Amino acid sequence: MRDPRYDILFTPVKIGPVTAKNRFFQVPHCNGMGHAMPMAHAAMREIKAEGGWAVVSTEECEIHPSSDLTPYVEARLWDDRDIPALALMCDKVHAHGALAALELSHNGPTASNLYSREVLLGPSHQVSKYGYPSQARAMTLHDIREYRRWHREAALRGKRAGMDIIYVYAAHDLSLPMHFLQRRRNQRSDEYGGSLENRVRLLREVLQDTRDAVGDTCAVALRFATEELLGPSGVELAEAQDIVGMLAELPDLWDVNLAAWYNDSVPSRFATEGAQEPFIDFVKKTTTKPVVGVGRFTSPDTMVSQIRRGVIDLIGAARPSIADPYLPKKIEEGRVDDIRECIGCNICVSGDMTISPIRCTQNPSMGEEWRKGWHPERIRPAPQPTRVLVVGGGPAGLEAARALAQRGHDVSLAESRKELGGRVTREARLPGLAEWARVRDWRMGQIGKLNNVSVYLDSPLTAQDVIDFGAEHVVLATGCHWRRDGFGRSNGLGIPSLVDNARVFTLDDLMDGRLPEGRVAVFDDDGFYYASVAAELLRARGCEVAYVTPEDSIAPWSVNTLDYRHIRKRMAKLGIEAVVSHNIAGFDGSRLTLENAWDEQQSERPCDAVVTITSRLPDDTLYQQLLQRQAHWGGAGVRSVRCIGDAEAPGLIAHAIYAGHRYARELQEPVTGEVAFKRHFHTADPDDLRREALA
Ligand code: ADP
Ligand code: SF4
Repeated sequence: MRDPRYDILFTPVKIGPVTAKNRFFQVPHCNGMGHAMPMAHAAMREIKAEGGWAVVSTEECEIHPSSDLTPYVEARLWDDRDIPALALMCDKVHAHGALAALELSHNGPTASNLYSREVLLGPSHQVSKYGYPSQARAMTLHDIREYRRWHREAALRGKRAGMDIIYVYAAHDLSLPMHFLQRRRNQRSDEYGGSLENRVRLLREVLQDTRDAVGDTCAVALRFATEELLGPSGVELAEAQDIVGMLAELPDLWDVNLAAWYNDSVPSRFATEGAQEPFIDFVKKTTTKPVVGVGRFTSPDTMVSQIRRGVIDLIGAARPSIADPYLPKKIEEGRVDDIRECIGCNICVSGDMTISPIRCTQNPSMGEEWRKGWHPERIRPAPQPTRVLVVGGGPAGLEAARALAQRGHDVSLAESRKELGGRVTREARLPGLAEWARVRDWRMGQIGKLNNVSVYLDSPLTAQDVIDFGAEHVVLATGCHWRRDGFGRSNGLGIPSLVDNARVFTLDDLMDGRLPEGRVAVFDDDGFYYASVAAELLRARGCEVAYVTPEDSIAPWSVNTLDYRHIRKRMAKLGIEAVVSHNIAGFDGSRLTLENAWDEQQSERPCDAVVTITSRLPDDTLYQQLLQRQAHWGGAGVRSVRCIGDAEAPGLIAHAIYAGHRYARELQEPVTGEVAFKRHFHTADPDDLRREALA
């Protein structure tokens, strides 16, 4: 079944006292569920174990109230009462023969302590990392001894929960052992500061403590950042090489990557598969212990190459395991072309950043495993298979068609263009977004294997066509278009001078090949990736580009997908001028009048064209026409007409995929009530709650 070239991926790897059954290692990743939603968290991890990952890790796990990460929701082991939630995860992971790993973390000055109200701790006095108006105090030697005790006790609790691998965390600029390594955070003059030997001391001690506490049955892993890309104030490769040399054999496993998180989980627009190799390949040459590394690996050939060339021993993955929890199983069963490849959009990261359960563009079941009972591979067969017409072959329509067919319905998919994919096909042609096409390609591949989907290209349907078609259920996924009139967050009445102005362009124009020339202002009132991509496209075509936004920073929402810094750097490199805090007051085709958002001062500049990226309007005319003809539905056998995805309300590609999937799941199923998912309650019994309140 399996291609013998991939056999090496399925050989066991000994990690200290435990053995990983193969080389697929889900490294720690945040998910916005953590300690607040333990059942949802455990179910999400279980499906990865079921999908063949040999090791399934938690996210960061807070070891003490002085490292409280509120508002972010991570794992927690403050005392014994936190053990059951993680024991649940271990049970679920073990049920499928996988190992469970726990990433213990004390975030020092990178914690918030908003919930616990403890004073932040750090190697030296310093400001808190995330802009809270408070400082961390320098730890005394007593504090250091206490920290080591908290870490040891958390390791023991992890062992009692059933964990097989316990991490010491020194990565992402997010944990005390790393903060003690960094010259910018550690200005101590005692035995924990100054020389490299001194700055490494705490990391060495914590590794040794963990080994002494749990090393008899648990492997001790070290997650270590080899480079921060900050110059001498951060961990640099040369120093990291010395550190790995000093600690080479102390951990049972080296998990190596780049810091901070935005340099580790880089969006596909800014880094290719395996991009970390030049920063981590020295590690395996320095230690005899197994090494795990990441690189958004989705291709088994790349994975094999990494192992054969001695770069890493274990294929680390966070995002590829989110996009496809069954990735290892699919390679094992010779179904490589069934892998839902991660597209590197980092919408999964935004779950954590926006404090909501993790979601994934490619995998709509992510975060819904427990609360909706959704499985990434399985779907309930339709109670009464019937004929369904899907109009529109973008992400929403493709996913609806695929999942409806998987349930056994007889599906027809009509698309007005000559190609499938809708917005992903169009956006994938923009600079850096080629991987977006994976959203289309996976769904087309799956639809191609099913014999109950008929695809009609070049078929713009009218309301009469839909009624004449006579499908029992109709779902309209007809998409949306970018507005030309400037209407958006900052201009609720639009921008009159943009209306009927031939020198105004939209992103749709650009994607259709209608491009401006000369001096162009890209007006961003949207705040995500689109405007920066448009600016990049036009710069590459030789335009002089100014990026104008009423916001105080460019692309503010891209902070949530770790794009922000990369976008800023690229714009600076390409010579794209950033004009923040300015709205458009007028544009006559040759002169642009800008208005400062704060002092309302106006200024003029020569400008040949404006590209408006403000908001979108649904293409729902077909839906409205069908609603008007509702009286004719019954005679034609049409029982329901629904409008989904961007045609219902424009959003992310992830929203469109989710909408298509949800439609397919819910068709013919009983309505679940006002709350369409299960929720976590701290106690099911109101008497318990009362007793707890009175205690
Ligand atoms: P979504 O993100 O919701 O999937 P897209 O804009 O990506 O939306 O896709 C919508 C697709 O629907 C486009 O490919 C468009 O060509 C197609 N479409 C729009 N109107 C019709 C119609 N009347 N008949 C068939 N296809 C249509
Ligand atoms: Fe990959 Fe995007 Fe899914 Fe994250 S959300 S796993 S980056 S496809």
